[in-house]
Amino acid sequence: MEKYGCKSCAGIGFYGGIRNFDMADPANKYPDNVPGRYYVDDQCIDCDLCRETAPNNFMRNDDGGHSFVFKQPETPEEEAQSQEALEGCPVEAIGKDGE
Ligand code: SF4
Repeated sequence: MEKYGCKSCAGIGFYGGIRNFDMADPANKYPDNVPGRYYVDDQCIDCDLCRETAPNNFMRNDDGGHSFVFKQPETPEEEAQSQEALEGCPVEAIGKDGE
């Protein structure tokens, strides 16, 4: 059964189908995100992609083992990098509909 599509990474294979990853939800964002459009929610699996892609905006919470937005993008380059991180996040834990 391939109910969740991907069976090799973040889908049913790796997590045993416990959770069906979905779009990021501002209601579930980590409190260490700075206010603004971009945020990381509690689906983050700490894969490092966003920190590599948008290092000016995403960093790691070492205690919690997840990423968060420490600065909202302020330049076209940072916006592009943050958008790339959003699109590349394997579990769709990054949103940009925050406040
Ligand atoms: S790309 Fe997604 S899963 Fe990976 S560290 Fe960033 S928010 Fe977390």
